[in-house]
Amino acid sequence: VIEVRMCSEPAPGRPVNEDACVAVDGLVAVLDGVTEAPGVDTGCRHGSAWYTRRLAARLVREYLKHPGGALTGLLAAAIDAVRADHGGGCDLDRPATPAAAVAVLRAAAGRADYLVLCDATVVLDTGGEVVAVTDERLAATIDVLRREPVPPGLDREALWRRHAIAKWPHVNTAGGYWIAAATPQAAEHAVTGTVTTGHPAGLRRAALLTDGATRAVEVFGLTDWPGLLTMLQGPGPGHLIRQVRRAEYRAGRDRDPAAGKPHDDATAAFCAFSVVAGNGEGTT
Ligand SMILES: [Zn+2]
Repeated sequence: VIEVRMCSEPAPGRPVNEDACVAVDGLVAVLDGVTEAPGVDTGCRHGSAWYTRRLAARLVREYLKHPGGALTGLLAAAIDAVRADHGGGCDLDRPATPAAAVAVLRAAAGRADYLVLCDATVVLDTGGEVVAVTDERLAATIDVLRREPVPPGLDREALWRRHAIAKWPHVNTAGGYWIAAATPQAAEHAVTGTVTTGHPAGLRRAALLTDGATRAVEVFGLTDWPGLLTMLQGPGPGHLIRQVRRAEYRAGRDRDPAAGKPHDDATAAFCAFSVVAGNGEGTT
């Protein structure tokens, strides 16, 4: 038995949500589309929110076709299908082509498989031990780029554009970072794993989060990973995102304009698993 709760919300003042979340029987995914930097030609007439929703829909479709297929293969097929969805009027070879971080959890008999590509996070509670799984390669790339000197006098948009362009040589390449975009092979580089379910030491609770939601722990320190799971299980994903918004507003008064987005789209999905095994060995 798996119970799912989810909430996804755009950053305040943003017209569209570039995050997406989706759940069908046995599969939960959250996606975080990269916001287009101002003045950068992505080559796509559809945009980031379209891409993220389309990729979510294609991922579900591939899962329903091949429920037991490797998650990397399902994601690769979904990325490939979205290439065709662009319809020929878009230049998919541009380095700023729409892209999204992805986290997926699939539950099957006695096990759960997870996948993380780029800076989304999966939090797993197995028998009371809580771990957060993410893909550190984008953060590592950004750390390197932040060490490069920045010319003085750039406004916020110019800084943003400069930062976006600096990432281009590192995207979907060995030694850089991998993200769902127009390259199906990127899926093969995702962080993946499997945990058992249906017994007391197996997976009890899981969360899938975009970085707009993990900032509750990693940026604002509102709680820790076990506390985050408890917040999602009790008050719920909407409550977590409201707490993040409050922290963002508090931090906004004295923040450095170069320190990243004041607000971000935020998505949290919570999954609870039964610890009662079908083979009679489980306990409640
Ligand atoms: Zn397009």
